[in-house]
Amino acid sequence: MTLCPHCRCLIPKRKVWTLTNLNSLTCPGCGSILRAAPFVNSLIGGLGAGAAVAVVGWGIMTGWSVPSLIGIALLPAILLYASSKFTTLLIDTRGRE
Ligand SMILES: [Zn+2]
Repeated sequence: MTLCPHCRCLIPKRKVWTLTNLNSLTCPGCGSILRAAPFVNSLIGGLGAGAAVAVVGWGIMTGWSVPSLIGIALLPAILLYASSKFTTLLIDTRGRE
């Protein structure tokens, strides 16, 4: 669950999932321009890439066993969950001042 740092209203998960370090989103409640905190998003991205490599390596080593395939299938869902849970939003005041 991600809240607007300005008005504390709930930001739809779908918007958070598409948020990267390069784009921003608009709060549906107050219209603030929000950005992801770069450190948190980079951390999730880095961990996600590491986990993807680990799971694919596991699949190759085990000859694509069923547990490894389940791991590969679950990984995107886990990353989406992590990004919606841990993404920290900052109010972007650039371009307003
Ligand atoms: Zn807001």
